[in-house]
Amino acid sequence: MYDYIKKQDAEVFAALLGEEERERDGLELIPSENYVSRAVREASGSILTNKYAEGYPGKRYYGGQGFTDAVEVLAVERAKKLFNCKFANVQPHAGAPANIATYFALMEPGDTIMGMDLSHGGHLTHGHPVTYITKIFNFVRYKMKDIETGEIDYDEMLATAKREKPKVIMAGFSAYPRELNYEKFVEIGREVGAVVIADVAHIAGLIAGRAAKNPFDAGFDVMLTTTHKTLRGPRGGMVLVRESEELAKKIDKTIFPGFQGGPLMHQIAAKAVCFGEALHPNFQVYAAHIVKNARAMAEVFKRENIRMITGGTDNHLILADIYGSLGIGGQEAQDILDTIGITLNKNMIADDTRKPMDPSGIRFGTPAITTRGMKEKECARVAELMLEALKAKDDAEKKKAIRAEIKELCTAFPIPESFV
Ligand SMILES: *Cc1c(COP(=O)(O)O)cnc(C)c1O
Repeated sequence: MYDYIKKQDAEVFAALLGEEERERDGLELIPSENYVSRAVREASGSILTNKYAEGYPGKRYYGGQGFTDAVEVLAVERAKKLFNCKFANVQPHAGAPANIATYFALMEPGDTIMGMDLSHGGHLTHGHPVTYITKIFNFVRYKMKDIETGEIDYDEMLATAKREKPKVIMAGFSAYPRELNYEKFVEIGREVGAVVIADVAHIAGLIAGRAAKNPFDAGFDVMLTTTHKTLRGPRGGMVLVRESEELAKKIDKTIFPGFQGGPLMHQIAAKAVCFGEALHPNFQVYAAHIVKNARAMAEVFKRENIRMITGGTDNHLILADIYGSLGIGGQEAQDILDTIGITLNKNMIADDTRKPMDPSGIRFGTPAITTRGMKEKECARVAELMLEALKAKDDAEKKKAIRAEIKELCTAFPIPESFV
């Protein structure tokens, strides 16, 4: 591996080896991360990075597109099959540009969009004040009615929608552990004449693997996603349109030439490979296990009286109020767990009284450790070790023993090279 880098660039080589070792010997619990197959990495590292392919298959600006067209058509056709829709644009470089381009396709500057409150699980791209998109569109919010169960306040949502007349209603989150009532979103959207979009960046793999509901089944118009989270593909974004050709054409135009330049054809090839893997029956087994494993971890937290936002999980992630439960801030918890070989992230909880850089919560999930082949038993053990380490934060000996057990788990469950 890395033969040429090794020969010509010792510094980059050292960093790559370090990361190989980190991924091999530690457990990745960041719920937006995963381990991709060697096939996805081969496509991602392929010669397609050499090619400019501005435009779409059959309508490119430059010549020499026989193979780029073939690859993009494969990615599009597989995506449509996977998510059960009529149109797919696989060119967005990542999730954020997919979202922003779609906003521009559906709204004029000054228009209103309604999304999940950020502290209740929404994403930065859903109108966080630090993002420039808030200078262009007007964001209004809905929230959970009950933080302990996670139920969304759909009555309030309807009232806000009637008052603010959003052009777009957005369902989706990066830190919400429950299923949404997609029918309600569609109902409210139809009532106020808004386009209804689901940003499924986190749960796309669960939807593709039939372990979560598909918003298109409830009548959503558009789905936005990344391809690198539960979907287990290369870093990238994608926009799916259920039925409307008019909407799909508008979105194509905003992505290119409106917003991006040449597509990353190597990443599009890797997306095609990833979608091929996700269409394999194995993937449904994988997706189902992500959810079972998260539930097994949540049960341990519940048994140990750790407060979880929404009381548990229906998907791949858990958001725990670690400060409220153990008196340890999110930053400190993240640092302690780092020392035992567990990577996760600190996270704001709903109505957090602490600061974003040291919030009350930790967020973690099971996509990556499920890829390693871990089942409920191992995942429950990992959850126990996490809590043991946090409670023994000043006991170096104890933490050393926990680190050793994590390393053993990593050896017993190596990162696989292939899934089909
Ligand atoms: C991760 C995520 C994004 C952004 O994806 P990037 O690839 O990091 O730009 C957008 N929306 C949601 C809900 C996400 O979880």
